Amino acid sequence: MKNENVITFNRPDDWHLHVRNDDVLAAVIGDTSRDFGRAIIMPNLPTPITTRSMATAYRDEILNQLPDKSKFSPLMTCYLTDTTDPDDLREGLKSGAYTAAKLYPAGATTNSNNGVTNISYLDDVFDVLSELGCPLLVHGEVVDDNVDVFDRENVFIQKILIPLRARHKKLKIVFEHITTKQAVEYIENENPSCLAATITPHHLSINRNAMFQGGIRPHMYCLPIAKREEHRRTLLRAACSGDEHFFLGTDSAPHTKETKESSCGCAGIYNSPCAISTYLQIFEQADALGQFNDFASKNGPLFYNLPINTELVTYKKENKPLVFPNVVIDADSVEVFSPPFNLYWKKATS
Ligand SMILES: [Zn+2]
Repeated sequence: MKNENVITFNRPDDWHLHVRNDDVLAAVIGDTSRDFGRAIIMPNLPTPITTRSMATAYRDEILNQLPDKSKFSPLMTCYLTDTTDPDDLREGLKSGAYTAAKLYPAGATTNSNNGVTNISYLDDVFDVLSELGCPLLVHGEVVDDNVDVFDRENVFIQKILIPLRARHKKLKIVFEHITTKQAVEYIENENPSCLAATITPHHLSINRNAMFQGGIRPHMYCLPIAKREEHRRTLLRAACSGDEHFFLGTDSAPHTKETKESSCGCAGIYNSPCAISTYLQIFEQADALGQFNDFASKNGPLFYNLPINTELVTYKKENKPLVFPNVVIDADSVEVFSPPFNLYWKKATS
């Protein structure tokens, strides 16, 4: 008989994650390694990861901070700049030092000042990625101050993504943390074999009102910024459809309270501790738990051409709402994302 309070699925992966470095890394990595098999690690440190030797050193730093016996595997990415060396990228991808390359338009988000100023400088780099079948990960927003912050993803599709795909037909692209109806519909209409998208737990949970509920709410601020309710509903439909073009990527990004709650607060939401519980709650509310394994554990590895994790994990529904304490770092802390509904799905210990 079907038990509606228990779900078992392949161990999931996080296809978009920030863990920073030093004491922040040490404080947060356990929250990801507990629940995920692998994660695509974002390279936007204060000194970005732009060479394969930097990627290897960063990977070692992450591995050193993992709890004992953890089987978690960080997958590294190359931060593309106007001067990325295609040969270093090729060697890094071939050796496994990198799994993918990341394109930040210059100035798009945290630590992206060294990002790409003109995408046409990178044709050689895109050729290397196409040749090896490795994905280009894009932060899909234009950075033009004249474009409204809520429209930057849609303008990116028109101005950057469509021409890029026309020029590099074999390039695999992950359109990261999509937030709009236009992004979902573009992918659905094109039905491409070489374009997919990740969707975060927070963009499935909140619309833009959450940033202004009774006052300014810095812990609901991230980039791309949350959009109107109609967009959230479209993202929800896409995630819950099981469509292979959409998969899990938390975009979990730890920033301390001091840097979030300020006159110019950082963009980013930290959701690693509650990510799976949040996604499960959302899928349950949408009556779509049957598609959860596709979204969380299968569609990602299929797109990246990597094996699906064979280990199975089980989550059970508790009677009382779960509590996720903030992460303490010295005298400061990182606030954990709190969706506007209670969470009940908890990983079963046995
Ligand atoms: Zn991100």
